[in-house]
Amino acid sequence: MKAVMKVSMAAFLIVLMVAGVTYGQDKLRVFTGILPQKFFVEQIGKGAVDVDVMVQPGASPHTYEPRPQQMVAISRAKLYFAIGVQFENVWLKRIASSNPSMKIIKTHEGIERVPMMGHDHEEEGGHQGHSHEGSAPDPHIWLSPPLVLIQARNILSALQEADPSNFDLYEANYRDLVSRVISIDSELRNIFKDKKGISFMVFHPAWGYFARAYGLSQIPVEIEGKEPKPSQLQRLIQDAKARNVKVIFTQPQFSTRSAEQVAREIGGQVITVDPLALDWVENMREVAEKFKAGLR
Ligand SMILES: [Zn+2]
Repeated sequence: MKAVMKVSMAAFLIVLMVAGVTYGQDKLRVFTGILPQKFFVEQIGKGAVDVDVMVQPGASPHTYEPRPQQMVAISRAKLYFAIGVQFENVWLKRIASSNPSMKIIKTHEGIERVPMMGHDHEEEGGHQGHSHEGSAPDPHIWLSPPLVLIQARNILSALQEADPSNFDLYEANYRDLVSRVISIDSELRNIFKDKKGISFMVFHPAWGYFARAYGLSQIPVEIEGKEPKPSQLQRLIQDAKARNVKVIFTQPQFSTRSAEQVAREIGGQVITVDPLALDWVENMREVAEKFKAGLR
């Protein structure tokens, strides 16, 4: 009698333990490289996915170095969504080897990337001796709504494959995100409809794919990742005047000194937009509003 009790008690404890473990692992744990990607995965995985991000707010994805506790957190993730930003060139191998069972998803799969214009990302600091001048593809694909649609599709497939039990949930969430991206895209198309070919300046040239999507042209202020020298600045000012630039974008991660100087000289305005804001939808809406105001 006593023995039977013991056995059933043990069985009961095992059931509790298994239930507890299952409960704790309820959500699919995934990692993303940058905040806008975290947003996309959170939207598509809403209710079923626990999303962590590598590049912390305020940090640059070109030079980021993961913290030790992030490398620990990586060991619990099932998926890692890469996006082709520069710190991954240095870290992705280490990230992969610290959790061999984790699947690495290329969110940029199927997107034809172009070389970074007038600009060498390698010069932004850190990683000396690791250079691919001229050939480095522009990583800023998340700032083009049409390209975000491709990224969203890649995220959807990866989540559905990793967690088929929530296949339909992911599909529904995906459709919801897609409709919001499309609405922003048409809003932007509307703003730029009569403004094809206009130029805007940017300190850090993160808006190349955005410019392509809406027939605009982006003039970088930053030269090889640095503030321009006084003589280069004079050329930029002349260029800005000749091309009738009215708007100069800067971002919180970089200095705005030269952008402000150019703006003063040309009577344009400096607009601070964070290409790495978490809430992509809200951020793009703000970008649209700012462009609308700046181009008036
Ligand atoms: Zn960048």
